[in-house]
Amino acid sequence: MRFTQLKISLLSLLLFSCANESAEESKINAILSQMTLEEKAGQMLNLGLPSVLTGGYWDEREEVVFDSVRFKKYIQKLNVGSIHNTPHPHFLPDADTWHYIIKTIQDASLKNTRLGIPVVYGIDNIHGANYVKGSVMFPHQIGLAASRNTDLVARTAEITSYESRAASMPWTYNPNADVSFSPLWGRIAESFGEDPYVVSQMTDAYIQGSQGSTLSDSTRTAVCVKHYLGYGAGSNGKDRANAIIPEGMLRQYFIPPFEAAVKSGAMSVMVSSNSVNGVPCHANSYYINDILKGELGFEGVVLSDFSDVEFLVEAHEVVDNKKEATWMAVNAGLDMLMNPYDADVVDYIVEGVETGAIAKERIDDAVRRVLRLKFRLNLFEKPYNDPANFPNLGAENHVEVNYQAASESLTLLKNEGVLPLKAGKKILVTGYAANSINILNGAWSRTFLGQMTQFNDPTKATIFEAIKKTNGIKNTLFGQGTDYLTDVNIDQVFKKAKYADQIVVCVGELPATEKPSDVNELDLPQAQQDLIKRLSTLGKPIVLVMVQGRPRIIRQIEPLVDAILMAYLPGQEGGRAIADALFGKTNPSGKLPYTYPKYTGNILPYYHKKTDARDVDWGYNGFYPQYPFGHGLSYTTFTLSNLHLDTDTIQGDGALRLQATLTNTGTRKGKTTVELYVKDLIASVAPDVNKLIAFQKHELQPGVQKTISFEVAAKDLKFVDAKNQWVVEPGAFTLSLSIDPDKPLKKDIYYKN
Ligand code: BGC
Repeated sequence: MRFTQLKISLLSLLLFSCANESAEESKINAILSQMTLEEKAGQMLNLGLPSVLTGGYWDEREEVVFDSVRFKKYIQKLNVGSIHNTPHPHFLPDADTWHYIIKTIQDASLKNTRLGIPVVYGIDNIHGANYVKGSVMFPHQIGLAASRNTDLVARTAEITSYESRAASMPWTYNPNADVSFSPLWGRIAESFGEDPYVVSQMTDAYIQGSQGSTLSDSTRTAVCVKHYLGYGAGSNGKDRANAIIPEGMLRQYFIPPFEAAVKSGAMSVMVSSNSVNGVPCHANSYYINDILKGELGFEGVVLSDFSDVEFLVEAHEVVDNKKEATWMAVNAGLDMLMNPYDADVVDYIVEGVETGAIAKERIDDAVRRVLRLKFRLNLFEKPYNDPANFPNLGAENHVEVNYQAASESLTLLKNEGVLPLKAGKKILVTGYAANSINILNGAWSRTFLGQMTQFNDPTKATIFEAIKKTNGIKNTLFGQGTDYLTDVNIDQVFKKAKYADQIVVCVGELPATEKPSDVNELDLPQAQQDLIKRLSTLGKPIVLVMVQGRPRIIRQIEPLVDAILMAYLPGQEGGRAIADALFGKTNPSGKLPYTYPKYTGNILPYYHKKTDARDVDWGYNGFYPQYPFGHGLSYTTFTLSNLHLDTDTIQGDGALRLQATLTNTGTRKGKTTVELYVKDLIASVAPDVNKLIAFQKHELQPGVQKTISFEVAAKDLKFVDAKNQWVVEPGAFTLSLSIDPDKPLKKDIYYKN
């Protein structure tokens, strides 16, 4: 049959398809019924863009040239389902270049293939559309979590979608719904932190912002929520490390954010590279087929992580050849394989079906999901966008949201009267992170690791530049003092410090992700601590600014400084946001999204401290954080009072209402987050020490008070019991309402069946 005839017969099939199927399912069935086994397997491949370009992977050329042989093979003959990644690490495409890349691929997919199925292009929009020249780069997720502002998170996701779609990329490999158990983990910056509730709320907000009400709106991107499952709990804190997670904990802490994502309508999920309890997630049918697709009812695409079929052979060693690894992954429930370098998995899938190693129905299910994603994104009708219709790429209003997100993420951990700074005094700005855009942006910034400087926007300010702008050139001294790990001239900085009235030390982490972000110890690198120790001998006020994803241990230097501002990885407007917070133009309102540890031997999340942490005799009190989860100061003061419950008992599926008065008792306008925790007093499984069940962010003028109100429902009292079931057990619970985790207002309540 000729292509045109085939397409006409497809069209008639579409028109006459079964009346009780949805229009979308009819279209999917119409295509599916025409597909050969090889074409179906082709839809299950997610290839890397460099594999259809001259030079291939890791090539350093600064142009995009399609390789005609490979282009024909993968795009035209195979009609590959999906492509991802950037062209080359030394080349940053603008929206027009992306348009050229994706138009070339889509035109060939639609016009020069037998069935005309468009490709779905996926990209790591980790903190903005970071691979599109001129896009805004927001704070990384950990900072967004600190903002506790879900509307703001949704807005950043909406802008990211718009800017990604300006470059014709409709599929975002984000948000990250990992619950970060280990503060050592280098990708904690890409996560919303340690608390399952915060992670769930933020994930939901991101998905709403990204996908909007309909994905056929060509400014919206479909999300790929990652990494399923337990990636943030690697037992040695390293990337892709095995995690040991009993079923009960898995259900209580790690599954809820993915459940929230499914409820929010997430169109795809990426499986994690690591193993849990020794079973690689890519081979875990129980996690994918039974829990994700079964219990949670997920109908979207399940995508593998980068080269992870190969990883089953090479790293996990659960099988000794890639063919069987492919069968294992597909049978475990993977619908699409991110196999960047070639199409070998397509042949293996075909052989798997032919030999009975994979059921035909499994392939049909996978392809159905992939086609559904493409129809939802309207790619058959509109496979790419005209960049001219996206005038707001990098526009001022997007930059403003970015600035606001950075400002609201900043978390004031300590302030002994030195902040806000008064402009006009002599300030020395120093430290590894003081004069670098790359450190503010972290990884996934124009390049994978974000370490190249040639793509930086010269109009964006480093911390030093932004401070200099406010404080004046003459009054602002600079000396870096250290690199990430080494002393590059602490002596010289020490001499300059003698001329300063105040010192701002900006410490930080090397921009990195995945394996390159692994660390062997959590302490802030010695050289960076030495700089502070030396400067502190001068007795001048020191403000410490921390530009880091992880909570690096600062126990020794914390007493030597007068104020600490945690900036996380604040993105492109970070320099400006930090300077404005230091000088009091803005008022910090971030709250820690993780427990800030004080000792390496004590790195539990706040809720999981169990008996190790009980404040009783006999050494059971092993939990000494530097700062608790939820900690964050302001330049104004807030109080909570008048905690009132409409009833102290919840019965059956009922709920109660809690009210309190929040007052700004200080002299400045400010925002704060009120957090509500519940503690089960006696439970059949040793109960969590506390469990966050709600938070609200409020802004108040000085002297103003407001009544705040929360509902507490029976479901909020639930935990996973020894039989791995969510239950609520009758008895007493303590509610704690706090703006300062050390000074909560408490009330006991009761649950009755
Ligand atoms: C990372 C993912 C990412 C993927 C595609 C992997 O190595 O773990 O987070 O989405 O690469 O770039």
